[in-house]
Amino acid sequence: MDKYKVLKDVFGYDTFREGQEGLIDSTLAGRDVLGIMPTGAGKSICFQVPALLFQGITIVVSPLISLMKDQVAALNAAGVHAAFINSSLTEGQYRKAMEFAARGRYKIIYAAPERLMTDSFLALVNQVEISMVAVDEAHCISQWGQDFRPSYLKIAEFIQVLPKRPVIAAYTATATRAVKEDILCILGLQNPFVAVTGYDRKNLCFAVEKPKDKIQALLDYLDKNREKSGIIYCNTRKNVEEIHRRLIQEGYPAVRYHAGLSDEEKKQNQEDFIYDRMPVMVATNAFGMGIDKSNVRFVLHFNMPKDIESYYQEAGRAGRDGEPGECVLYYAGQDVKTNEFLINQQMENEEFDREDMELIRGRNFERLRKMTFYCFTNECLREYILRYFGEYGGNYCGNCKNCLTEFQDTDVTKEAESILKLVKTSGQRYGIQAVTDAVHGSDSAKVRQFHLNENTYYGVLKDRTIVRIRQILNDLLVKDYLVLTAGDYPVLRLGERGKAMLDGAEEQVLLKLPKEQPKMQSSAKS
Ligand code: ADP
Ligand code: ZN
Repeated sequence: MDKYKVLKDVFGYDTFREGQEGLIDSTLAGRDVLGIMPTGAGKSICFQVPALLFQGITIVVSPLISLMKDQVAALNAAGVHAAFINSSLTEGQYRKAMEFAARGRYKIIYAAPERLMTDSFLALVNQVEISMVAVDEAHCISQWGQDFRPSYLKIAEFIQVLPKRPVIAAYTATATRAVKEDILCILGLQNPFVAVTGYDRKNLCFAVEKPKDKIQALLDYLDKNREKSGIIYCNTRKNVEEIHRRLIQEGYPAVRYHAGLSDEEKKQNQEDFIYDRMPVMVATNAFGMGIDKSNVRFVLHFNMPKDIESYYQEAGRAGRDGEPGECVLYYAGQDVKTNEFLINQQMENEEFDREDMELIRGRNFERLRKMTFYCFTNECLREYILRYFGEYGGNYCGNCKNCLTEFQDTDVTKEAESILKLVKTSGQRYGIQAVTDAVHGSDSAKVRQFHLNENTYYGVLKDRTIVRIRQILNDLLVKDYLVLTAGDYPVLRLGERGKAMLDGAEEQVLLKLPKEQPKMQSSAKS
């Protein structure tokens, strides 16, 4: 058997997709690999094909029980002997699976990371030949990643105690540079073949909107996209319920999905959507894992997600067939607050050391900020995302809202300087709101409380609108003139460029503003 035959006979495909073959060849040659590919690119095949060609058994470490079940079911259906070992098995089922495994019945065993270092599992791997350990969702090993799992650290320990070092293959959809370094280092990959592929989804068009009335905007959007299949993501179950009800009321066929529904309803709704009986799915982020629907034409985020990783993964469910897809995000300031709340809540629900917890909280907030910047940048949205994941595109993609909008550069050097000076002279101790109010000369509670009305630069931008000041401030943050500290009360400090500018470096700050400047006065409030 060779890889092509396995691809055809077992999986039914004629050709490999971008990136797959290189990873498979390296793996088969006995080299460790790290594959970073977006959701839907086809990571599973990269380790499943070699697994079937290797002499011994492949262990796949995966964090999600539902994902394991799906993959094992799919393999079994294709005639591959595979099993999973996780906490969903009864004592009896577990013993039986282990017995079969010991007799070499399975070619591929999916295991939860918590299982690896148990006595029974260690006994098993000492009896049989392990050819490869494949780590799915490998970003979970990194504290820099969005779903850090302390139990993933056990994988490295496990590999150490194996009688013979197998090939290690790590896969993830979301690795920023820091996460990638962690994966390589913590898993101890040796001279690995690293492939980052297919991140750029050229057929997807990205847009950020800030509608005053999100529901109305959504209805207008759906009106223009009738019959098209799409997903509307909301950040809470309550929002899913509300929007779903509203869509039904307005006569748009839609189904809903969130963790609060019965298994039966979830299954039914999911199938109605997948088999095109219902075009629109309104869901929380609980929907989509392991779902493979190729003709999704739009993914509309009714709320801003907590980080770019989540956003790109969810948005990436559009246009998997390669036909045009739209990824629209509705931003509102409230989304930031909700996400902050959700991050704090999530931190409380997980078992971390105190020290780890502060670290992780800080990083979660940092990622939320980068997500927020995405909603404010006037640069190419695709470039922003690709850069976030450590890839570089051109600065102009021609297929995102920003690239398609005509902007004009506006010189805001004077305004920028005033803001920087206020931040500096007030001791770099205040947040965005207070600084904005201060330069605008607002008589707000914060301004009075912090005595910012006594600062020399108080009110220097009183003839600019709050909206404009916020735009400039956001631009200064995005471009590193200012930085925002992590934590519950983020404050503005001077960034490297900001310091340089105040030290007299000749810098011109150009802000890109839409050519057709909407009337700003009406939305300005202090
Ligand atoms: P990922 O894990 O990267 O999200 P999957 O491994 O689930 O992606 O693959 C996504 C879909 O693409 C699956 O339906 C899979 O069968 C399909 N697929 C993978 N490789 C190929 C290929 N070479 N040709 C055609 N379809 C493929
Ligand atoms: Zn663009």
